[in-house]
Amino acid sequence: MTRLRTTAVHGGRDDLADLGVHALPIDLSTTYPIPDQTEGGYALQAFAEGAAHATSPVYSRLHNPTVARFEQALAALEGTSAAVAFGSGMAAVTAVVQAACVLTGKTHVVAVRPIYGGTDHLLSSGLLGVRTTYATADEVADAITPETGLVVVETPANPNLDLLDIAAVVARAGDVPVVVDNTFATPVLQNPAAHGATYVLHSGTKYLGGHGDVLGGVVACDEEHAAPLRQVRIITGAVLHPLGGYLMHRGLATLPLRVEAAQRGAVELAARLDAHPGTGLVRHPSLPGADPAGLIGTQMRGPGAMLAFTTREDPAAVVRRLRLVTPAVSLGSVDTLIEHPAALTHRLVPDAAREASGVPANLLRLSVGLEDVEDIWDDLDQALSGPCEQDYIKPSSSGFREPAASH
Ligand SMILES: *Cc1c(COP(=O)(O)O)cnc(C)c1O
Repeated sequence: MTRLRTTAVHGGRDDLADLGVHALPIDLSTTYPIPDQTEGGYALQAFAEGAAHATSPVYSRLHNPTVARFEQALAALEGTSAAVAFGSGMAAVTAVVQAACVLTGKTHVVAVRPIYGGTDHLLSSGLLGVRTTYATADEVADAITPETGLVVVETPANPNLDLLDIAAVVARAGDVPVVVDNTFATPVLQNPAAHGATYVLHSGTKYLGGHGDVLGGVVACDEEHAAPLRQVRIITGAVLHPLGGYLMHRGLATLPLRVEAAQRGAVELAARLDAHPGTGLVRHPSLPGADPAGLIGTQMRGPGAMLAFTTREDPAAVVRRLRLVTPAVSLGSVDTLIEHPAALTHRLVPDAAREASGVPANLLRLSVGLEDVEDIWDDLDQALSGPCEQDYIKPSSSGFREPAASH
């Protein structure tokens, strides 16, 4: 086993030298020649039973070599024997519920709020035929019934950076598999499987891709749990496009450097935001009191680059005054992104449940990017420091903002 930065650069590239290529090949084939159709039938059968490889990919919904290399690299970073990639983070969440509950006849999920609003909405919707009980991390054991097939947690949690002790939740879950959404921490800062998580889930759209130009998801786990996930992926067709596999795999090479650099900025910005008169509550695992269980240094290798804060003023007004920071959902990109969870990512979570899980209506979520931290600060500081009417940009009729006048 090489060290993290080395694994990030070299993972999933074992066959490139034999192929005589340096960059990751993008295999766009939808189908593969099968001169011996009996042999091809055995390959199809193997994939239908959840195999990772067979003598031919047969058809791109069953297997794709470009996506498989990305999976191998991500599994190496998470320290698991396998990983299974999907067309989006939500497709990955859906597949985990289908594999853990629908395929096994279980009808109940326990989830610890807050979680990503889309996951919350999926679990509350009943769409997959499962009922969800929301519990605190301490209440997980009490919430589990014989029908429970899965426990769903996020740490740090989207959007308020709540931390939870993965090993403690795994212990309370007993025999029930636990999925940890590791999107915020990335494998650079946290490996949930090492603390007993059965499934480690990522929205690859965020830090793994890292440049805001690819949608994808991935689940790292052992081979026993990977096989049903692959079966679900074949049946439902929730595959990752090979171009997405290529972009996320390429993103992994710089993932440690990007996360470490953005994290340095976030630590600095969290301290300054905490002291700013325009903010109320500031949430970042680096701040005093944010990690009472001492998880940083044991479960996590650092506090990460996501933070959240409440505003004294209308959060929408603060966002409208920003000039550099991108006002948009998503996170983990090279540029700093800000969004208002109650209006956007967590809009579909009932207000009372959102408030009760520590996500107030005036909370803003900030994904710190790779710009010079002083420029990010200048922008946040002016936006939090009250109206500046001559700078005010009215939305154009199309709904897009006009370019700012230069001054
Ligand atoms: C964005 C996100 C998801 C969903 O991922 P998509 O790629 O948008 O489908 C799931 N979990 C977390 C924590 C996220 O931030």
